Amino acid sequence: MSDHVLVINAGSSSLKYSLIDGASGEAAASGLVERIGEPESRHLHRGPDGETSATLKIASHEDAMRAVISAFEEYGPSFDDIEIVAIGHRVVHGGSRFADPVLIDDELVAAVTELVPLAPLHNPANLEGIRVARQLFPDHPQVAVFDTAFHQTLPPEAYTYAVPLEWRDDHGIRRYGFHGTSHAFVSAEAARVLGRDLGDLNLIVLHLGNGCSATAVRGGVSVETSMGMTPLEGLVMGTRSGDLDPAIHAHLVRELGWTVDKIDRALNHESGLKGIAGDNDFRELTTRRSAGDPHAQLAFDIYCHRLKKYIGAYYAVLGTVDAIVFTAGVGQHSAGVRATTLTGLERLGIHLDPARNNHPTPTTISTPDSPVTILVIPTNEEWQIARETLALLEPHD
Ligand code: ADP
Repeated sequence: MSDHVLVINAGSSSLKYSLIDGASGEAAASGLVERIGEPESRHLHRGPDGETSATLKIASHEDAMRAVISAFEEYGPSFDDIEIVAIGHRVVHGGSRFADPVLIDDELVAAVTELVPLAPLHNPANLEGIRVARQLFPDHPQVAVFDTAFHQTLPPEAYTYAVPLEWRDDHGIRRYGFHGTSHAFVSAEAARVLGRDLGDLNLIVLHLGNGCSATAVRGGVSVETSMGMTPLEGLVMGTRSGDLDPAIHAHLVRELGWTVDKIDRALNHESGLKGIAGDNDFRELTTRRSAGDPHAQLAFDIYCHRLKKYIGAYYAVLGTVDAIVFTAGVGQHSAGVRATTLTGLERLGIHLDPARNNHPTPTTISTPDSPVTILVIPTNEEWQIARETLALLEPHD
């Protein structure tokens, strides 16, 4: 039997998990505990006999992990039937220090704790997931896979903000980039679909989920990416603004007396599609747009316009582009976003095939003679984390 990894993604009030076959990527089980700490938490578990869902009170991540273990015992698969060889944790921020996955020990926990100021919304939850998993699975090797690691190859001109030296040297203020596991997975898949060596390809990868990011990948290496010191920079997202004039912060403080926390919350949780149209779910927005809702139309237009700007910029950075790759919820499912974003880029050799783009399960959506191939590739961050976890534990020479 092949090796299975329990992949854990701990959020501030949620715990996602998947038991992944590292060789095939197949999930033997997966699930989600959400609204941890609220009066009514929910636990969804998908096992060999389908999906079960329970509403109960789950006070902490530790209780959530115990509920996960119980679900495996009750609904399967049993850990006797499928042995977990390791646990892989998604960790959002690895700073400048981590360009690769790392075996978790006390030193690693201390290093990730030091990075909390760079990712106050994410790293504390990831650390709590690690703490609980180490407590309940003390004999399993555990590995941290960082969302930022893939972008540690960015050159200085791409990662450096034009700010005073001491900001950069003393406070770690630079661009790090996120969604790295997804960009790495999708880049490798694109090479496979194209039947080419990843090392020979220039790609623009567009991860469009609740969070959105674009990455320019040259020869398998990230050379430019849209998220910055935090996941707030760049594209328009579900609830995040993406790029904006940094002077807006000072304006809100000076003119409206807003606190930094209020501004931070608004830009992370009340902006983006939600801020423009009141809805961060793209499906909902698509329905409203079809019904002629002007706010939904404006949100869609801003979203696609920003995306188009980034494609143009990354095309210029790369010089030549072999493929543009769409992934994640919106990227994989919204033919409308793909069509609107790519329309008018024919002079850049980007020719979308409308019939292929509207196919229910699209892969190659460019015309056969398009100089730039356009691809839709499902991402699989859990599989990538499982593979990187196993690769670290079983090094091959
Ligand atoms: P996450 O970043 O949470 O992993 P996903 O990759 O699941 O997010 O993407 C979530 C987004 O994808 C949501 O805005 C959702 O509405 C959108 N989405 C999912 N399915 C569709 C669809 N069929 N058409 C348009 N948007 C979709």
